[in-house]
Amino acid sequence: MQYGFIIDNRKCIGCHACTVACKSEHDVPIGVNRTWVKQVEKGEFPNTRRVFSVLRCNHCTDAPCVEICPVEALYIRKDGIVDFNNDRCIGCKSCMQACPYDALYIDPDTHTAAKCNYCAHRVDIGLEPACVNVCPEHAIISGDMNNPDSEIAQLLAREQVTVRKPEKGTQPNVYYINGDEASLTPSATERTDQYLWSSQKSGVGHYAKFTEKLTEGKNVDDLLSQLDSKAISYAGAPKKSVEVLMEAAKARRVYDTPDKGILWGWEVSAYILTKAISAGVILIPFIGMIANGTELNHEWKYAIGALSLVFLLATGVLLVKDLDQPSRFLYVLLRPQWKSWLAKGGYAITLFGGLVTCWIVAVYFEFENLAAVAFILSVMMATIVAVYTAFLFAQAKGRDFWQSPTMVLHMFTHSIMAGSAALLIWAVFMSAPKEWIKFNEALLWWSTIFNLVLMLIEVSITHPTQDAKTVVSMIVSGRYKINFWMGAIVIGNILPLGLLSDIINLSIIASIMSLIGIFITEKIWVEAPQRIPLT
Ligand code: SF4
Repeated sequence: MQYGFIIDNRKCIGCHACTVACKSEHDVPIGVNRTWVKQVEKGEFPNTRRVFSVLRCNHCTDAPCVEICPVEALYIRKDGIVDFNNDRCIGCKSCMQACPYDALYIDPDTHTAAKCNYCAHRVDIGLEPACVNVCPEHAIISGDMNNPDSEIAQLLAREQVTVRKPEKGTQPNVYYINGDEASLTPSATERTDQYLWSSQKSGVGHYAKFTEKLTEGKNVDDLLSQLDSKAISYAGAPKKSVEVLMEAAKARRVYDTPDKGILWGWEVSAYILTKAISAGVILIPFIGMIANGTELNHEWKYAIGALSLVFLLATGVLLVKDLDQPSRFLYVLLRPQWKSWLAKGGYAITLFGGLVTCWIVAVYFEFENLAAVAFILSVMMATIVAVYTAFLFAQAKGRDFWQSPTMVLHMFTHSIMAGSAALLIWAVFMSAPKEWIKFNEALLWWSTIFNLVLMLIEVSITHPTQDAKTVVSMIVSGRYKINFWMGAIVIGNILPLGLLSDIINLSIIASIMSLIGIFITEKIWVEAPQRIPLT
């Protein structure tokens, strides 16, 4: 069996009965929606037209939300319905990053993720979903698409249909008859705060504060002029005919679900930095051993182990703080879903902490063989801890910019930079041999050069999608340009390169700048892609 929906745009009258029936059936709180009717207007008065598009979860056959969920809170039933269990959800919001269709939200009452579940409880007793039942035009058709006798299978065989974002490879199971390009393609119309329900009122919904900030001190004329210039700038979008683009440039979004804002905020950028330090300080002595046979004394081994564990603890605290259900954080370890890089990462961090502790204890008791084995295993686990976030970001299929193949190198390089910078600062508090300081300075210098080249490649290569290109232009010449050029490039890379020298105090300033630069870079890389609307 494979349940699916057809939305017949020839019949939809935009009455919102489906939205209301769904709200009522599932007690969906104010400010969030499981299904909604996006409206786009086209043309100039008097020749105007309004297009309705019913949007919701696509019950994808290859559902990225299910793959990324670390605790199996989202799962695919035997009949193809993508359902969820909010008793399991930890509120990590990774499903919201993975879904390319903006189908999920965090329920403001339960603090867990929710979405359309095809009214599975109704289907189980032979009823149709509430939206299908209520639609006065029979514009929503549900059923088993694998049953040739079903209405949906027959319509699919007869009519030309379209799906949202087929290029994502998720195999969506919501089909549109007369699907409208300007309405179904998020980048074809600008998301402003001037359309109906574009923002939420104070105290309503999970993201009320964000939307309040969004509307502060804005003036209607400015927003309209932004809308015109941005809509036309999409004319460079690939694979679209001139006619479609001309039409899209004139289309205006007039009714949609509210913007959910930045889902992963500063905590995620900060955790990438603390994780990079924790892993980096273990990787660097290993590189020193391989490169020039550096052997650390016991005092330094304790110092490095302690430094790594402190930053690993900070990583854990930040990870838990970012959850909407922080008391359930242990579910990641107790009920892991092994395809999720969040679950794999949770285990990597825990094992890494255990191995580093084991290494320090073995050094203390002078169990040399055990210390050597624990150290090598710590180095292997440090490598995984340093780079696993790149794979997690790649699972977040909703964000095109995070799909870049350079992400693994980016994370690893930041770990080497952060590790050597932290060890240089640490050298102030400890009596470090001159060669050890020199080695760390050299490592920071070369990794910074490599990082600069990598960042410039990331922002200058041709990204395959319009959304990723828009993120790049936001970074290099848009709202993040000062943070990027001044913060990430000058403070984080160019100045440290100039300051690293024989004068230890200057090297320490360079190290602090380098750590600040890594945080700023991660903040931009995490935040900017989340500004691209998914519907
Ligand atoms: Fe639904 Fe989005 Fe998950 Fe697809 S990825 S099944 S649309 S929530």
